[in-house]
Amino acid sequence: MKFIQSIRKNFRNRIISYLAVSSLLPVFVLLAVSYSRSLDSFQTATSQHLEGVAHEISLKTDLWNQKNKSLIALVANELSDRTRTPQEQKRLFANTIGANPWIVLIHTLDLKGNDLIRSDHDPLRKYGDRVYFQEALRGNVYSEAVYSKQTTSKPALCTGAPVFKNGKINQVICFCSYMEVLKLEIGSDSMNESGYAFVVDGKNQVIAHPRLAFLSPLQDAVEIRAVKAYRQGRQDRFEFSEGDSRYVSYLQPAGDDDAMIAVIQNQDEVLRQARGYLLAPFSVALLVVLLCCILSYVGIDRLTKPINDLALAANELSHANLKVRVQPSTDDEMKLLADAFNRMADRIEAHTNELHQKVAAQSQKLIYSAKMSSLGEMAGSIAHEINNPLAIINLYIQNLKFNLEQGKSNPDKTKEALTKMESTSLRITQIIKGLRSFSRDGSRDPMQFENLSTILSDAQTLVSQSLIKISIRLEIQCDPGLALKCQPVPLCQVFVNMILNAKDAIQNLEERWISISATDANDKIFIRIRDSGHGIPTALHDRIMEPFFTTKAAGEGTGLGLSISKGIVEQHHGKIWYNPDSDHTEFCLVLPKFYSKNLESPSSEALI
Ligand code: ADP
Repeated sequence: MKFIQSIRKNFRNRIISYLAVSSLLPVFVLLAVSYSRSLDSFQTATSQHLEGVAHEISLKTDLWNQKNKSLIALVANELSDRTRTPQEQKRLFANTIGANPWIVLIHTLDLKGNDLIRSDHDPLRKYGDRVYFQEALRGNVYSEAVYSKQTTSKPALCTGAPVFKNGKINQVICFCSYMEVLKLEIGSDSMNESGYAFVVDGKNQVIAHPRLAFLSPLQDAVEIRAVKAYRQGRQDRFEFSEGDSRYVSYLQPAGDDDAMIAVIQNQDEVLRQARGYLLAPFSVALLVVLLCCILSYVGIDRLTKPINDLALAANELSHANLKVRVQPSTDDEMKLLADAFNRMADRIEAHTNELHQKVAAQSQKLIYSAKMSSLGEMAGSIAHEINNPLAIINLYIQNLKFNLEQGKSNPDKTKEALTKMESTSLRITQIIKGLRSFSRDGSRDPMQFENLSTILSDAQTLVSQSLIKISIRLEIQCDPGLALKCQPVPLCQVFVNMILNAKDAIQNLEERWISISATDANDKIFIRIRDSGHGIPTALHDRIMEPFFTTKAAGEGTGLGLSISKGIVEQHHGKIWYNPDSDHTEFCLVLPKFYSKNLESPSSEALI
C-alpha cells in the first residue's frame, strides 16, 4: 500500500509505472507467449520430422525390398525361359551383381534346398531350413534377415523366389545383400539427438539399430513398449510415459517377415533441446527489453528532474527556506517555469525580509509591553514591599526623635536603631535595583556568567508581595553551584512569567503553592516549575506556546508570556515544555550548564 502511495506521490514514478503497464507488461506477456508457442512449435516440428522419418524409412525399406524382389523375379524369369549352362548362369549372376553392387551373392537351389550354382567361389551348401526357401517353394518371393557364418560373415537380407519350368517350380533362386547396405539406405541411426529409429524383424530381433548389433534382442523398456504397441495393432503415432520421461513413437511396417520400423523420441529431451535453442534468442530479446527499460528510466529521470527539482524547491520555499532557487538545466518550458519560480522566490524573500524587520521591531515592543504588563501586575505589591521597610525606618526615626527630645538618648540603643535603619534602607535599594533592572530591555545585554540561584531569588523578590497577598507558598530549591552563561534580565523575566502564570492559575484553589527545583543533569541544568494546579486541558497543550494565545479574560492576559519565555530559553540554547504526565501543572526547562566552584553556592529556599 505504502509502495503504491509512494508511486502516486512521485511524478517520475507515475510516468514509469504508466510506461511499465502500457508497454513493458505487454512486451513481457508477448515474450512469454511467444516463448511457450515456440516451445510448442519446436516440439511439433521435431515430432513431424520424426513422423516423416518413419515414413521415409518405411518407404525406403519397401522400395529396397521391391527392387530386390523385381530384380530376383527378372533373373528367375530369365532362368525359366530357357535352359542355361552353368557358365551362362554364372555370367548372368555376375552381370546382375555388377549392375546392382549391393547384392553380394546369387545362388540357385534345388527343391531340397541344396546349392546348384553360386555366384561366389564358396563350396555348395544346404539352405533347406530357411524361411525364404520354403516360401519360394510355395511360389512366394520372400525376404528374410539372416546371419549365417557359413554364407556371409555379416548380417544379410536374403530374398528367395521360385524358378518355373513348364509351369512348375523346379528351382529356387536366392539374392543376398548385406544389412549394412540396408542400414545405410534407411539411415536408421541418422536421427537427431532426441530421437532415433530402429528396425526389427517379426521375431523382434534387431535388423537395424543405432546401438544394438544385428539380430540381438531389444533390451530397452521404451523400445519394447513401442514394439509391443505395434504388435497389438497400433500404427502411426503412439504416446506413452516410461520412468520419468514422456515418449512419442511412430510405428510403420518394414517389408516382409513382420518387420517393423520404430521411431522413438524422448519428449522431455526435445523440450530441453528446445529450451536450449530458444535460450539465446529470448535472452537477447529480454536483454534488449531490459536495455530499453534502463534507457527509458534514464530518459524519464532526466525529463522529470526539472519538475522534481521545482517541486523540491517549492516545498523548501513553503518551509520558509527563502534562499532556495532552481537551476534550469534545459532551454524549454521548464526553463520558463524555473525562471518564474526564481523571480517569485526573490520577491517572497524581499517581502519576507521587510516583514521580518517590521515584526522584529514590533515584537521588541511587544516583549517590552508584556514586561510592563507584569511590572504593572507587580507594582502594587512592590510598593507594599517598599512601604513596609519605609514604615519601619519611620518608626525608628520617631523613636530616636522622642528619646532625643526627652533627653533619654542612649548611644548603644541609637547605634542599634541606626544599624536596623541602614539594613532596611539597603533592602529598599535592592528592590529598586531589581525593579530598574527588570524594567530595562536586556535583550541586547552581553552573555555573562551568573549563578542560577541569584536569578531565581531576583525573580522571587519581584513576585513575592503579589504571592503573599493571596497566601501562595513559593518554594525554590537549587543545587549548589549551578551557574550558567546567560543574559540574567531576560532569564529572570522567564521565571517571573512562569510564576505569575502559576499564580493566576491557582489563586482560587484551596491548596496554593508553587515550587521551582533546579538540578544538576550532567552538562545541563534541569528546572521544574510546578504549581498546585491540576494541569492544562489536553486540547490546549499544542497552543499554549503560541503567541497571543491566552485563556485569560480580556485585559488580564496578553498571550505572550510563554511564547516570549520560549524564545528567550531557545536563545540560551535551552528548551522549555509543558509536562502532561505530572500529577500537578508542571513546566520543564533545560539550560546548558556553566559550572564554577568559585561562584558561591546559594541554595535559596524561601517560604512566603
Ligand atoms: P497569558 O499568561 O497572557 O495568558 P501565556 O503565554 O503566559 O499568556 O500563557 C498562555 C496560556 O497558557 C494561559 O492563558 C493559560 O491558559 C496557560 N497557562 C500557562 N501557564 C499555566 C499554568 N501554570 N497553569 C495553567 N495554565 C497555564
